[in-house]
Amino acid sequence: MEKTNGFHHTNGNGQLVADMIGDDHSLTSPKTPLNYDAFLTSDNEKMVKIEHHFRKIMETLGLDLEDESLNGTPYRVAKMFVNEIFSGLKPDQKPRMMVFDNNFKYGQMLVEKNISVNSTCEHHFLPIYGKAHVAYISSGKVIGLSKLNRIVEYFSRRPQVQERLTRQIAEELKSVLKTEDVAVVIEAKHMCVMHRGIKDQGSSTITAEYCGSFKNANTRHEFIQFTGMNLNRNV
Ligand SMILES: [Zn+2]
Repeated sequence: MEKTNGFHHTNGNGQLVADMIGDDHSLTSPKTPLNYDAFLTSDNEKMVKIEHHFRKIMETLGLDLEDESLNGTPYRVAKMFVNEIFSGLKPDQKPRMMVFDNNFKYGQMLVEKNISVNSTCEHHFLPIYGKAHVAYISSGKVIGLSKLNRIVEYFSRRPQVQERLTRQIAEELKSVLKTEDVAVVIEAKHMCVMHRGIKDQGSSTITAEYCGSFKNANTRHEFIQFTGMNLNRNV
C-alpha cells in the first residue's frame, strides 16, 4: 500500500489529508507512519476487518473458535484496538487544549511527574508501561495540569517506539504552550524485552527530550531532582 511522508495526498473531496491528520503530523514533528487513507475507513469498518483477520490468526494457531471462551475474542480484540489502545491514532481524539494566561506570573518550571504511560510496542504489539515526567517554563501561557496527563495518554495510545512517543509529547507541549522550554522523560518497561527474546525482567528504558532552556545543565538538573528519578532504581 502506498505510504506517505509528506502528506500531500488528498481524499475524494480534495481535502488535504494533512489537514485531517492535524498538527502533530506536521513536517517538523516526529510522525507516526500512516497510510494516506488512514482515516477514510470508519471505526466500525475497521473493527469488522480486524475481527475477521484476528479470527484467522487464532485459527491458524490451531485454536477452536467454537469454544465459548474463545469465540468472542476476535471481536474483543478489534474493539480494544480501535476504541482503546490505538485510539490515539485518530486526530479527533486529540485532547482539546484550553490555554490560560499565566496570571500568577509563575516563571519557574512546572513539573508533572509520574504520569502513567500505557503504550504498545510497534515492533511486537506488546505493552510498554511506565512513567512520564514532563516540565515546562511558561512563556505567559499555562494549561490545566490534567491536560499534561491527557497529552501523554493520547500519544501513548498508538503503536509506538519510546523515542518517538517522547518526542511527540514534547512537540505537542511546545506547540500548545508556545514555548521551547519543555522537557519530557519517560522510564518504561517493554514486555517484548521481559517476556520474550532476552527475557530481562529487571531492565527499563529511559528516553529524554530536553528543549529550549532545558538544554542548560542547571535547568535540566533541577528538573531531574524534582522528578526524584533515581537512575539506579527500577521503574
Ligand atoms: Zn518490542
